[in-house]
Amino acid sequence: MIAVINHKSKIINQKMGYKKASFIESIAEKIGIIPNLHKEGYQEFDEDMRQFSDAEVEKMYENFPPPEKWNHWEEYNPKVWPRKEKKAYQIVPTTCFNCESACGLTAFIDKESGEVQKFEGNPYHPGSRGRNCAKGPATINQITDPDRILYPLKRKGKRGEGEWDRITWDEALDTISARIRKALKEDRHNEIAYHVGRPGAEGFMNWVLPAWGIDGHNSHTNICSSGARFGYNLWYGYDRPSPDHAEAKFILLISAHLESGHYFNPHAQRIIEGKMKGAKLATMDPRLSNTASMSDYWMPSYPGTEAAVLLAMALIILEEGLYNRDYLENWTNWQEYLKARHADKEITFENYIAAMIEEYKEFTPEFAEKESGVKAGMIREIAVKIGEAGERFASHNWRSAGASNLGGWAVARCLHFLTVLTGAVGAKGGTSPNSWNKFKPSVPHNPAPQKKWNELHFPKEYPLAFFEMSQLLPHLLKAGRGKMDVYFSRVFNPVWTYPDGFTWMEMFLDEDKFGLHAALTPTWNETAFFADFVLPMGLASERHDINSYATHGGTWVAFRQPVLREAARRNGKPVEYTYQANPGEVWEEDEFWIELSWRIDPDGSMGIRKHFESPNRPGQKITIEEYYQYIFERVPGLPEAAKKEEITELEYMSKYGAFEIEKGESYHKNETALTEDQLKDTTVDKINGVVRKNGKDVGVMVNGKAVVGFPTPSRKNEFYSQTMVDWKWPEYATPTYIKSHIHNDVLDKSKGEYVLVPTFRLPTLIHSRSGNAKWLVEISNRNPIWMHPDDAAKWNFKTGDLVKMNTDIGYFIDKVWVTQSMKPGVVACSHHIGRWRREQDKTGNRWATNTVDIQNVKKGEWKMSTQSGISPFESKDKDSKRIFWKDGGVHQNITHAVHPDPISGMHTWHQRVRIEKPKEGENYGDIFVDTNKSHEVFKEWLAMTRPAPGPDGLRRPLWFKRAFKPDESTYYIKEDEK
Ligand code: SF4
Repeated sequence: MIAVINHKSKIINQKMGYKKASFIESIAEKIGIIPNLHKEGYQEFDEDMRQFSDAEVEKMYENFPPPEKWNHWEEYNPKVWPRKEKKAYQIVPTTCFNCESACGLTAFIDKESGEVQKFEGNPYHPGSRGRNCAKGPATINQITDPDRILYPLKRKGKRGEGEWDRITWDEALDTISARIRKALKEDRHNEIAYHVGRPGAEGFMNWVLPAWGIDGHNSHTNICSSGARFGYNLWYGYDRPSPDHAEAKFILLISAHLESGHYFNPHAQRIIEGKMKGAKLATMDPRLSNTASMSDYWMPSYPGTEAAVLLAMALIILEEGLYNRDYLENWTNWQEYLKARHADKEITFENYIAAMIEEYKEFTPEFAEKESGVKAGMIREIAVKIGEAGERFASHNWRSAGASNLGGWAVARCLHFLTVLTGAVGAKGGTSPNSWNKFKPSVPHNPAPQKKWNELHFPKEYPLAFFEMSQLLPHLLKAGRGKMDVYFSRVFNPVWTYPDGFTWMEMFLDEDKFGLHAALTPTWNETAFFADFVLPMGLASERHDINSYATHGGTWVAFRQPVLREAARRNGKPVEYTYQANPGEVWEEDEFWIELSWRIDPDGSMGIRKHFESPNRPGQKITIEEYYQYIFERVPGLPEAAKKEEITELEYMSKYGAFEIEKGESYHKNETALTEDQLKDTTVDKINGVVRKNGKDVGVMVNGKAVVGFPTPSRKNEFYSQTMVDWKWPEYATPTYIKSHIHNDVLDKSKGEYVLVPTFRLPTLIHSRSGNAKWLVEISNRNPIWMHPDDAAKWNFKTGDLVKMNTDIGYFIDKVWVTQSMKPGVVACSHHIGRWRREQDKTGNRWATNTVDIQNVKKGEWKMSTQSGISPFESKDKDSKRIFWKDGGVHQNITHAVHPDPISGMHTWHQRVRIEKPKEGENYGDIFVDTNKSHEVFKEWLAMTRPAPGPDGLRRPLWFKRAFKPDESTYYIKEDEK
């Protein structure tokens, strides 16, 4: 059968006809000036996949100043060119904080002025390898932004009125700690919360919040990636993929990962490496993104139908016998599936395959084409290529479809189905669980898990929600289900980033709902306007953090550090606290939390302080150096590397900024044999081979060997999920296609209803974090509605015309961009843009913000109108007078209602919109929202859930992770809570 397929694919290859090399390209390839991009078929992959030997890579690093010269590096001053004037720099590494990849940066500190002059990449960072996207070097804009917040502030007058007093850090710490202490002593633990947008760190808050004994972590993940995480988790107990792009033969991306995905630059460089060695790239996206345009196959699918396409591919792989029999037989729970779903059949592998083919028989390529609009021929061709790539099939779904649709989690589940069928799970060139490529720090005096469960974060209605139901917080408060006495927002801007920002605003304005709101932020944002304390926290080069991310098939740890503090230390002038070295009194969270924890429990009687004591000096407060030295001493291999240079582990990390723990052989970790010690006192489940110790699953028998397997109930990939059955969703026990809330069937085209894709990122911006970076805003500053010419013709729109986008709870008025790059019948609008401030607010982000007027016209009815756009302004930065762009775009998320998927809890971003032409008197940037309606929509979606308890009175499956997992006892609903 495989031979037949190979023959078929050859024909397909010939038909497709890869682009021929031009005459000049052929010569350049032949003499080796450029790599050979026109080889037929795949190259062999036995050599080092980077295509460069270690020695060659070292040679390349010579283009960058060598570390021994980082304390004194001279180069010509570009500002006085063509005059040749040398400037001396001190070079200090750190990591970028403009997206989650944490690429290496090096700060060039002018030795004369003591200021950071520029940022370049760090070639010693194994994830980014010296490269950055535009947002990395733009860190310099952020630290020199004339509008940044330099001192702690406390509100004056009513919340939201825009009046602020400068205060000291002591005043902020004392006021906040006293309030927290009181709440803890009165057993109001669930009224304290830390709500984070981009964490950018590993493990720090897992140290702090459990030490306070609170279930107080709230994240942004349910408006971001939790849909896909849920889909992956159901399969293999890990919630994220780590595609090994550079080693792959076929790469399938759901959406625009090449230009703006998670781990953007590190992944992008490896996708291109893979392509340069012959891998083929397919992208599913209704938009012709930069990623789609770089792909071999663009599948412009109708939003929400991706799972149908993936299941059609799965069916082809099954029918054509392209699956990996060994993998399916050993690493899926097929016996359990047959027993549960086909009790009449004998339990044989052949029956498993036959049952799957039967189960998915309706998912023909033609059916998938009908649903998605992607041509059946292309679906078939890609399926064959994936089957041929076998273990070398890398794929990714992070947000996009997984984050946008009712049942979006099923997209990631169906994508992983292909990874399982090909045996690519954890294989070289395949897709591993991300935890295999990530370092987890051990912290000093690690606290026990908290013994509280916060229903405002994990309400009973969403027992399977993969992360905190953060988008519902204002609605739960509105419904009287609790309050927040002390609430920290950190790199978090829900008024602007979240759906339904006006409901957030209403709740922030009500001091009975949010008692004290402290915004920890480097820069002004729409949420900080409604805080009581605005506490300036450092940007990438002004703070400490540990980073470790799954960028490829290796593991690394990186050190974000305050570069001026590190320079001061090297120059023999160490400071005690980071704010003493940073601009103004800009601090960092790490030291802030340690100080705050000591002040909550000044005499240690509450059992909090002990966690923040020095590991070396009993009873003394831990210093930031002690904290990081403790962690770095425990990084595998780092002590040896530091010893070689006769420096401490912390000094090593401060010097290089990163350390490679493992180079790239972390494959097939599920096959790791249990050690003799682990096997002691274990039992083996006779039915499924699961190995248990002290009531906990520790491994599984595979081919007579006890191995660790995956952290699922069966310790295998779960094609069949008993968990879904037990938790009242039997219809989704196996990978399924769920029709989205914006499926074509539910849109009334006669009324002008369309699906709006509101999620795509521009490669140069990040949510609301890049509004203070002038270079980035200069590149991207508008967010028009992308519309195909056929749709534009229907409406008689031309580029630049105003369009009114009516959502379930209001409308926004934007401009049309007519483009062939949009799938007909679908419209799209980028986020990040449409930033605003009101007249009364402190000036901030003037590169990116419109000045708006907000009126509360009736109870729950809000109107926003743009008073003025962006204009040049006087400041210490001469560029601020050169601003040429005027249009700050339109805020769209605020007009979206909350739509939490009833299973994963993920906000489903796609919007059903009714398109119309604005009426007389309606203007560009006008926004209207009725929060009464938005609360009704919240209730409608709440009614779709199937609440806890599940089996044994549980509020959540025990094997489901939580970012801050409380004590196991809290998983059981107590009598008085029912
Ligand atoms: S991809 Fe760009 S924004 Fe993200 S960490 Fe790297 S350089 Fe920074």
